[in-house]
Amino acid sequence: MSMRKRLSGSRRALALSGAGVLVAGGMVAIPVTAAQAATQCSVDYTTNEWPGGMTGNLTIRNLGDALSSWNLGFTFPNSGQRVVQGWAAKWNQSGQNVTAANESYNGALPSGGSVSIGFNGTWSGSNPKPTSFTLNGVVCNGGNPNPTTPPPTTPPPTTPPPTTPPPTTPPPTSPPPGQKVDNPYLNAKGYVNPEWKAKAESVAGGNRVSNNPTAVWIDRIAAINGTPDSSSNGAMGVRNHLDEALKQGANYIQFVIYNLPGRDCSALASNGELGPNDLPRYKAEYIDPIAAIQRDAKYASLRIINIIEIDSLPNLVTNTSGNPGGTAMCDTVKANGAYVNGVGYALAKLGAIGNVYNYIDAGHHGWLGWDSNFSPSATILREAAGASGSTPANVHGFIVNTANYSALKEPHFKVTDSVNGTTVRQSKWVDWNFYVDELSFAQAFRNELVSKGFDSKIGMLIDTSRNGWGGSARPTGPGATTNVDTYVNGGRVDRRIHAGNWCNQAGAGLGERPKAAPEPGIDAYVWVKPPGESDGSSKEIPNNEGKGFDRMCDPTYTGNPRNGNNPSGALPDAPISGAWFAAQFAQLMQNAYPPLS
Ligand code: BGC
Repeated sequence: MSMRKRLSGSRRALALSGAGVLVAGGMVAIPVTAAQAATQCSVDYTTNEWPGGMTGNLTIRNLGDALSSWNLGFTFPNSGQRVVQGWAAKWNQSGQNVTAANESYNGALPSGGSVSIGFNGTWSGSNPKPTSFTLNGVVCNGGNPNPTTPPPTTPPPTTPPPTTPPPTTPPPTSPPPGQKVDNPYLNAKGYVNPEWKAKAESVAGGNRVSNNPTAVWIDRIAAINGTPDSSSNGAMGVRNHLDEALKQGANYIQFVIYNLPGRDCSALASNGELGPNDLPRYKAEYIDPIAAIQRDAKYASLRIINIIEIDSLPNLVTNTSGNPGGTAMCDTVKANGAYVNGVGYALAKLGAIGNVYNYIDAGHHGWLGWDSNFSPSATILREAAGASGSTPANVHGFIVNTANYSALKEPHFKVTDSVNGTTVRQSKWVDWNFYVDELSFAQAFRNELVSKGFDSKIGMLIDTSRNGWGGSARPTGPGATTNVDTYVNGGRVDRRIHAGNWCNQAGAGLGERPKAAPEPGIDAYVWVKPPGESDGSSKEIPNNEGKGFDRMCDPTYTGNPRNGNNPSGALPDAPISGAWFAAQFAQLMQNAYPPLS
């Protein structure tokens, strides 16, 4: 994988159509009209249930005036249904009547806003859903069940994730085919890849993090059935992982679909086995067999999450000829439609499966954060979502920062800051980008994607596997205000030499541990790149996987226009991409942020 960036001119003006559409804090809110009654609401009520037990998830949407406090009421249809323990609200039950009043931190519910709350409970006999809900005593007309009421285009819930862990009892039953849950990570236990876990535990202290879910990369056709002799992947195939996930009682498992024709067209370290004209093989020998396995009814209780084709589509915008460093391979796969049609095919085939969730790769801020790249990349993502028989309904969301190192949040400076009248955008580090970190980029890009025709309920994932930037080099406050460069360089937690560096970065640490619904618009922080697996070899290493030697992985390389002709910042002695790199894993633990205890 790699990253590329390009400067742009001034930012495209935010064009929004439709009277009454508000933009606040970068999020789009539903229209508010004077005619609205004081209290209007809708409630989504879903349960994961098993014999005698359930987890209930409720999303309350405020379709009326802003509220400073709220109290939800409903009646269980059966006397055997009980709330045992709830979160994100003060729960009470008297007879069959249940109330949930706001906590101090989530009482304010703006017009158009929503809040998610939940509970663990028990039932006997049967477990029907309540038929009516009230909010502050007023019946929710838009309430569940009412399939004809479209959900408002509000950002996802702003509440913190529940403080109560989900039950460890049997996994939730999955919804009927086609009815996917809004956030497959919420209140769900992730699959721990035993092959990665063993590698992590082979390094001293690795057991502190080895129980985190990481993604399984299906990075070649042979990986579908397992690749016992490969240096960069495990012996377990897709079925083995799914079987193991069932054994673990996991609720979700993450795969990376990563084998496009002419893969990694702008770099060399992750070139793959398929040539640019191999779209028919991609479909028949790669996607079809994966779909056949994921469709097996045996796995219907698992939420199968597919991360679709890392660092692919935006290359068609930023790394074709006419761009600095554009490559002939990117030109070829743009001209022959291999990427657009390959991604479309994967989305259509996999998205048709009721318990499968597709998230397409959407680069990262240090690649797409300039105007020249931002909107055109969203356009090409939308094009792919409609290719090869797919529709945007096959896309559950997008992922940013996969296998990259961009900081989640830059706490000591903002893109709107200036020093002595000069905007920080003019600093060498920011280089006119409109974003300085992944969270702000992901939330803004989500809005852009919705404006291009993706569902307003799409969620973003952020890969936080290696973007922690803790350790002794982490700044504790803003840089000196001598000029924009001292201010930004002194304060930035991302300690790379240049934001265009992407291979085995020296000084990086593990980032946020995987976590559901951490911020508005974000379905989860995830570890998709398994920490400790190399980004590419620091010297030429012959292999039979198609992996090339990219000098961005060579610590002696002095760079190219894409990283401002800076040193690569890569660690020495790295094996080929995907292979275990123990020294890197030790460094990632050392510099973890939040730190490891
Ligand atoms: C490699 C894949 C590997 C993945 C996860 C990529 O850079 O090309 O072979 O599975 O990283 O480590």
